[in-house]
Amino acid sequence: MSASRYDCIVIGGGHNGLTCAAYLARAGRSVLVLEAGEEVGGAARTREFAPGYKVSAVAHLLHLMPPSLPHELGLARHGLKMAAERMSTIALSGGPVALTIDCAGLRAPEGLSASDAGSYLRYRARMQRLARALRPVLEAPPPRLGSRDWRDRLALLELGVRMRLLGRTDMRELLRIGGMCVQDLLDEHFESELLKGALAFDAVLGTNFGPRSPGTVFTLLYRMAAGSAAGDSLAQPVGGLGALCEALARAARAAGASIRTGTPVKRVLVRDDRAAGVMLESGEDFEAGCVISSADPRTTFLGLLGAEHLDAGFVRRLNHLRSHGMAAKVHLALDRAPSFRGVETQPPAGRLVLAPSQMAIERAFNHAKYGEFSAAPMLEIVLPTAADPALAPPGKHVLSAVVQYAPYRLAAGWEGERQRFLDLILGTLETCAPGLRDSVVAAELLTPADIEAQFRISGGHWHHAELALDQFFMVRPVAGAARYRAPVGGLYLCGAGCHPGGGVMGVAGRNAARQILKEAA
Ligand SMILES: Cc1cc2nc3c(=O)[nH]c(=O)nc-3n(C[C@H](O)[C@H](O)[C@H](O)COP(=O)(O)OP(=O)(O)OC[C@H]3O[C@@H](n4cnc5c(N)ncnc54)[C@H](O)[C@@H]3O)c2cc1C
Repeated sequence: MSASRYDCIVIGGGHNGLTCAAYLARAGRSVLVLEAGEEVGGAARTREFAPGYKVSAVAHLLHLMPPSLPHELGLARHGLKMAAERMSTIALSGGPVALTIDCAGLRAPEGLSASDAGSYLRYRARMQRLARALRPVLEAPPPRLGSRDWRDRLALLELGVRMRLLGRTDMRELLRIGGMCVQDLLDEHFESELLKGALAFDAVLGTNFGPRSPGTVFTLLYRMAAGSAAGDSLAQPVGGLGALCEALARAARAAGASIRTGTPVKRVLVRDDRAAGVMLESGEDFEAGCVISSADPRTTFLGLLGAEHLDAGFVRRLNHLRSHGMAAKVHLALDRAPSFRGVETQPPAGRLVLAPSQMAIERAFNHAKYGEFSAAPMLEIVLPTAADPALAPPGKHVLSAVVQYAPYRLAAGWEGERQRFLDLILGTLETCAPGLRDSVVAAELLTPADIEAQFRISGGHWHHAELALDQFFMVRPVAGAARYRAPVGGLYLCGAGCHPGGGVMGVAGRNAARQILKEAA
């Protein structure tokens, strides 16, 4: 083998690209990962945003990765440690009342709703049963529709059997609620607006939906299905999400993969209608038996491959792929620990959610429908330094918040509006943690447009492409590329844009590797 020829070239060293590379290398393939950035990790990277203050730059919570994956790759041996596990969710009201949701159930102040605590346990038990039935769907490549291959037929049959095993009552409930909006579901179960807001928030986080959008029970079940595989636990690695990717990179290297950073790929090279290698922006090229891209589908097919290699119908489907992001990120360097109203432990060790009611979320979403940011945005807040003080100088803190809703295309343009948006977010935080504003020594705002520019995710979308019923499973990202395989031979996808979607899960990368190995067998 010449130095510039590999069995597999992986474009992008985000967590999915690294996972895919590690599985392929462990199966004996020669693998080269080419990452455009100066570090691996993609949107799961830790970086310094102010002198001495580090933060998980985009994704900040680990809760979707199935335990089998770190176990199979030996990530603990490669340095992965958790700073916090089984983190609770604390629903902030913006006032003196907060409620805590964790594995044990619901802890609400006296009088919030006497009946909701019991309802919550029943609701969660049923949703978890439904989510568990869906979980195997995430962990395998989708079967081909209309195929006569026995493996596709068996996969469809297994899916049917799993649904049947739910029993009549749960199966009927899944059919009833599957396409519903989450607001209707939560209104059936609960009284407390604060509780309903916090639960609805998880259905819409990272999406272009509000609680009244059809299909949001599906997005909630998706999150629970992936999350239940991870043991229903929100976690924070020591050193942030970047430490997970460093461990993945070590695992891939230990298995024999080569990883190069600062090497943006310009083109996928096609020979005899097959992907035959890649050319870097520097002009250097590499040959490969197959090319696997963890870049988003639009970048992969229209940017790196080129529409000239695809049929018109496929290009039309790609052009219709919904992939504009709606979530922004804010990082604050704080010179002291903030104190949140209604929260017992300061600084809070859990995940704080400011989504005080379903109405508040829907109102926040209304602005975004018309290309505006929310006047009262919804927030997911983490204080990573509560569990991992080394992320900031001694005694100082970092606040990391996902801000929902911030449209990728702001009608007024982000450049002139970013300071106003940041001020609005700081004002919102101040109502929850009085005095916080005075403790801010540095602030960073990443809009979806910034995420596109800095992390090479076109549209800056959480999942690389909207996760919705019409862009899921056998049609993710689009029909014709649903089983990690591109219409051009030798080219595969392995990132968040393919099945089962995004979040720091690694399953797309592992599924893609398994599919490639199966095809070669
Ligand atoms: C605001 C926000 C908050 C989020 N928070 C969470 C969270 O808390 N928890 C969670 O689980 N998920 C979260 N997510 C989602 C999560 O970050 C992503 O779904 C996930 O990181 C995608 O991983 P990936 O490996 O598929 O792709 P990426 O992380 O996007 O990696 C792709 C890699 O490919 C590289 N690349 C692209 N083009 C080229 C090229 N031409 N040449 C070479 N390299 C290239 C990129 O530089 C990048 O490193 C969040 C997303 C957003 C937007």
